[in-house]
Amino acid sequence: LEAKEEFRHKTLATDVMRPRRSDPLLSVLTESRMTVEEVERLIADTTYSGFPVVISQQSPRLVGFVLRRDLIISLENARRHQEGVVSTSPILFTECDPPMSPSAPPAVKLRSILDLSPFTVTVHTPMEIVVDIFRKLGLRQCLVIQNGRLLGIITKKDILKHMAQMANRDPDSILFN
Ligand code: ADP
Repeated sequence: LEAKEEFRHKTLATDVMRPRRSDPLLSVLTESRMTVEEVERLIADTTYSGFPVVISQQSPRLVGFVLRRDLIISLENARRHQEGVVSTSPILFTECDPPMSPSAPPAVKLRSILDLSPFTVTVHTPMEIVVDIFRKLGLRQCLVIQNGRLLGIITKKDILKHMAQMANRDPDSILFN
């Protein structure tokens, strides 16, 4: 995302974020209600570089963001080295352990790989500002929120594609300096 092109279009974060209306839903993890097996399946079924972590599917409030590669390493490690871990072991991103029955398999605790303050914008944030923030902070992705609910994600590549699209549509409005 080179800084030489100024982005002057009036588009908003909602115009660029994924998923689109026709896409499958955002792939998220929940902070305490998933099993090792479920997370492994999500990793196998998708290619995304990361996953937002939310409180629950019913309450899509953002807790943090976890990178795919960190998840893979941590799950492999837990399977190999943590005693008693099985497919039905719960995955916990929470600070405190929720109450569990003594016969339940041990939990895999992954809070340490969670980015607790991923960058967020709202659906109304102008893309001009989003582009500027990506450049200045060197972001790879940011999350899009509306009224506290997680709605989408914008990656650097999404922005590059959007810029190329806008440039094709209206070449005069991208200013080269
Ligand atoms: P890139 O955009 O660099 O290819 P990703 O592979 O992470 O990075 O994302 C591919 C596409 O999927 C992008 O359009 C992005 O907005 C979207 N995306 C990224 N993460 C998720 C996710 N967890 N759930 C749904 N869509 C996602």
